[in-house]
Amino acid sequence: MRLLLVEDNERLIESATLGLERVGFTVDSFTTLGEGEAAIESVRYDTIILDLGLPDGDGLVLLSKMRLNGDSTPVLILTARDGVDDRVKGLNIGADDYLLKPFAMEELVARIRALLRRPGGALGSSLTAGNVTFDTTAREVSIDEKAINISRREMGVLEQLMRRKGRVVPKDVLEDKLYGFDEEVTSNSVEVHISRLRKRLLNAEASITIHTLRGVGYLLSEESGPEG
Ligand code: CA
Repeated sequence: MRLLLVEDNERLIESATLGLERVGFTVDSFTTLGEGEAAIESVRYDTIILDLGLPDGDGLVLLSKMRLNGDSTPVLILTARDGVDDRVKGLNIGADDYLLKPFAMEELVARIRALLRRPGGALGSSLTAGNVTFDTTAREVSIDEKAINISRREMGVLEQLMRRKGRVVPKDVLEDKLYGFDEEVTSNSVEVHISRLRKRLLNAEASITIHTLRGVGYLLSEESGPEG
């Protein structure tokens, strides 16, 4: 799950990014309206967290542009405690939810998960394939109902593959979902995570297989055994 944070308070960016990454989200952050807009044009985010008072203008301008363009990405706006007008205006323009500053990290995470779980949101609460269950809320993967140890990146890869079970997932889609702008993607890093993931699945006797389609991407199928 890739999130965009448009906020100009460095301390807030730091703590929110840390808190969100800890629970498995990938976060891109920008401090201006202009940069936020450019990011939205190049990446499809799962949710956008939008501050309203930005150095180059009001976050609501960006929100209203998005909605006019038919972009229905969930948007959570961050408002000041006394900003009742902003809140109402934001919800009228098409914000999905708002959070008053200052807020607790747990609340931000809970609100984002709630947005992602809405009909049409990116997050179903549970994915299954063969004997593998992925609880996307608790961020836990179980095989035959036994939780397994798995790294954040591997979990991200598995989630994308399970969401598109039986379909080809292009490699660049996986890279896109796994890495933020400021993280370097080495050419073989997706392969490395896939290979570790395969070993884990095999060791835990998962009844799913990840196939490599050379030069194209990956496909998850419901069958046991090593890659065929
Ligand atoms: Ca601000």
